[in-house]
Amino acid sequence: MSDILHLPKFINTNCFCKISLILLMINGVFCQVFAQIQSKDNLKKHILYLADDKLEGRETGTKGEQLAYEYIIDQFEAIGLAPKGDSDTYLQKFEFTDGTVLGAENTLKFNDYSLKINEEYFVPPISNSGSFDGEVINVGYGIEAENLNHNDYNIKSKKLENKIFIIENGHPDMDNPHSDFIEFASIDTKVDLAIKKGAKSVIIFDEKQAISGLMEQYHKNSRVTTKSVPVLFCGTNSIDKFLSSDSKKQLAAGVVNIDKQRKIGNNVVGFIDNLAKNTIIIGGHYDHLGYGHRGSLHNGKPEIHNGADDNASGIALIIELARKLKGDKYKNHNYEFICFSGEELGLYGSNYYVKHPTVDLDKISYMINFDMIGRVDTSKNSVVISGTGTSPFWQQLDNIETDLTLLKKESGVGPSDHTSFYLKNIPVLHFFSGAHADYHKPSDDEEKINYNGIVSIENLLLSLIEESNKTQSKIVFTETKEDKSNEETPRFSVGLGVIPDYLFDGVGMRIEGVRPEKTASKAGIKDGDIVIKMGDVEVVDMMTYMKALSKFKKGDSTKVLIIRKEEKIEKQVTFF
Ligand SMILES: [Zn+2]
Repeated sequence: MSDILHLPKFINTNCFCKISLILLMINGVFCQVFAQIQSKDNLKKHILYLADDKLEGRETGTKGEQLAYEYIIDQFEAIGLAPKGDSDTYLQKFEFTDGTVLGAENTLKFNDYSLKINEEYFVPPISNSGSFDGEVINVGYGIEAENLNHNDYNIKSKKLENKIFIIENGHPDMDNPHSDFIEFASIDTKVDLAIKKGAKSVIIFDEKQAISGLMEQYHKNSRVTTKSVPVLFCGTNSIDKFLSSDSKKQLAAGVVNIDKQRKIGNNVVGFIDNLAKNTIIIGGHYDHLGYGHRGSLHNGKPEIHNGADDNASGIALIIELARKLKGDKYKNHNYEFICFSGEELGLYGSNYYVKHPTVDLDKISYMINFDMIGRVDTSKNSVVISGTGTSPFWQQLDNIETDLTLLKKESGVGPSDHTSFYLKNIPVLHFFSGAHADYHKPSDDEEKINYNGIVSIENLLLSLIEESNKTQSKIVFTETKEDKSNEETPRFSVGLGVIPDYLFDGVGMRIEGVRPEKTASKAGIKDGDIVIKMGDVEVVDMMTYMKALSKFKKGDSTKVLIIRKEEKIEKQVTFF
């Protein structure tokens, strides 16, 4: 650079001005190019670290999460961001439930034989705690399928009442992979039916598999509905102990004692205090799927899911934006940078943040979310921007010079952390470079990242911040009509039109937000209501809520039982 500024002596002032102007311009372009190379190098350094096998997929509540947040903190500190988490640290901790663990006392006795836990039987995560003692009744596969001419419950209901049900795993047509029996054969369905028939406890046995294989299979998905009775599982190694053909009364007794496993997740929060009235939030999640036990689209043995695009890419950009915004420009707002955890589990971190904000929610001008921005397609060079309907200010996007094609979506609700802020009436934008074949698979790796694409998004965002820096005021919030594609879940043809509270720990489905003009709002259901029953399905959590929904179609009406301020209220809803 100094070479360019070396000027010949003979130039007159007038001429000097012109030349120096040209040189300054060259110098400016040079600086820009240099800055971009440096930016790319930094982005690559961050993604290489965060998506390294050493971090084991950055699952919330694990060592990998810790390594990731320590790295982010080091970066924030070096840049000079102020800590803005819990009590003057960069971390904001939140607690969440992650499956179940066995409590102190667990027993199972069959006639006079005591079975050994985790050797001869085990307690699957769907089991409730409780004790049982009494007569056993064998109900075959525990399937009632009229259309298939199969009914294991052709037993007088009096005989079933208050018994301990023994149910065989699987169904009568196991060799057929397309069997119509499959829909009746899940443990979930069988236990629900058994409870309806009067079971006070359910023992499932599998004649073909040993305990170890069954445990692996049934513990894999630990986010399941807890049933209202104890459920136990036996395999080949204990079956002979209680399946005797002996006609005398069979008795069983047991105690099941399980606890919810509590874990801690950590948001990382850094701050640039420009002593401004309002703050801009720039965020994204740093957690990913670990070894892929939940949320993975990978089949086969557990493998590390590095999540280079999802979402090491977003975190890398957050760090680099923090570096740029720490400079002396754009001082009309403060900036808060939040790296969320628990996103993959259901927006836990951002949900916690908006309930425990570290800047006043009323003083947030807008929130930018980066989630999966590392795979801008080189041929189309496009980026999806959601939330463009959440403020008229976002029309500015049309005036910004960029090499990217912007695919704009109005909705402020989507499967990422900006949703938590939108639901608090804060304008949001979510940047996303598009879906790809490596999504939620172990193959989402660093070498597939398009760094030019991230730099283009960075420049776009800096231009947008330059625009908003023209005033100190907050930008205006507007509510959006939801996209059809963002309906609660594609598997169901109807929805209540609500946003569930994914952090809610009690019994039922707590409503975080009610969408205007939808089924729930028309029935007078409000934010904070807890749905405990829909139709004749008891709703104990998200899973049962979704199951209840799947029973209805457009035009159906049903009763919904809710709890509002400890009072039970019944509402009639019509799905449309
Ligand atoms: Zn993801």
